[in-house]
Amino acid sequence: MDIKITKTTSPKEKPDQKALGFGKYMSDHMFLMDYTEGIGWHDARIVPYGPIPMDPGAVALHYAQETFEGLKAYRTAEGKIQLFRPEMNARRMINSNHRLCMPPFPEDMFIEAVKAIVTVDADWVPSEPGASLYIRPFMFTTECQLSLHNSREFLFAIICSPSGAYYAEGINPVKILVEDEYVRAVKGGTGFAKCGGNYAGAMIGQEKAEAMGYSQVLWLDGQERKYVEEVGGMNIMFKINGEIWTAPCEGTVLPGVTRDSMLTILKEWGYTVREEKLSIDDLMAYCEKGQVEEVFGTGTAAVISPVGVLNYRGNVQTINNNEIGELSLKLYTYLTDLQWGRIPDTHGWIVPVC
Ligand SMILES: *Cc1c(COP(=O)(O)O)cnc(C)c1O
Repeated sequence: MDIKITKTTSPKEKPDQKALGFGKYMSDHMFLMDYTEGIGWHDARIVPYGPIPMDPGAVALHYAQETFEGLKAYRTAEGKIQLFRPEMNARRMINSNHRLCMPPFPEDMFIEAVKAIVTVDADWVPSEPGASLYIRPFMFTTECQLSLHNSREFLFAIICSPSGAYYAEGINPVKILVEDEYVRAVKGGTGFAKCGGNYAGAMIGQEKAEAMGYSQVLWLDGQERKYVEEVGGMNIMFKINGEIWTAPCEGTVLPGVTRDSMLTILKEWGYTVREEKLSIDDLMAYCEKGQVEEVFGTGTAAVISPVGVLNYRGNVQTINNNEIGELSLKLYTYLTDLQWGRIPDTHGWIVPVC
């Protein structure tokens, strides 16, 4: 791929690495590439970060034909920069795009584009412990068209945001509200696709949870509101009587890279992993019997987010004394050690950048 690079003449001042937060600051450059039907992908370029001119009639603004990804670049103790399983993000985006009638952005080009933008903005990859460069590839229809027809013009873009250690104050368990009114996904819908539309439809649940003093929503299946599926932007796992339960990826759950990595590691560690439907009633019953040992969300941003409290229709259950569990901590430590290059990569998951 021939990438034209135009560097900024006015680099921004770097934010304090100790107060980065998540997704607040953007790096100096962005990657852009256009798609035109009949021509394919063309004009790969890295340009100074800035507004993207859009036609007010662009399909993305009206019908939400948009997909995105999320991954990180990590700086090792030796000062090198590396990625974690970026091919998984590339393949997932192809699947998301297919569902939203958008052309695939090829896997090799995806990885090349990510490496290129991270290399240009290498001095934006933080060195502060636990901080990383969050990479946000996304794609949308730019074509002006209000009738409902297949689009022929798209933009693929990557922006980067230096983000702080997720757990600056230690890993504190979160309180989760089980949502029994709104649903996030149904079979045949877009639940497995990483697309903005899923988030737009889920915000009301998040708002409701926050108003009640909870930080996240646990979504139940859209048909029966019976089986646990996932949390806001994370997959969720339960350690019950020594076994690990998580919802199967059958179209309504987002297939997380962190989820897949955790399941692989857990199997290697000898755990029984049950990618099976678990009903909320059974889960609450296990809680009441004291058999739910740990509950944790998994995702790129936080890696692991322990759940301390579950509220289902007013039945409030505390998990593991509202403390991070032994296995959650072990998984968190193992995965972050791998990502920051502190232990050898025996899975072939690390991709060096520069
Ligand atoms: C991105 C995302 C996840 C987590 O996926 P990772 O690849 O592990 O970051 C889980 N659920 C939803 C809804 C997501 O958008």
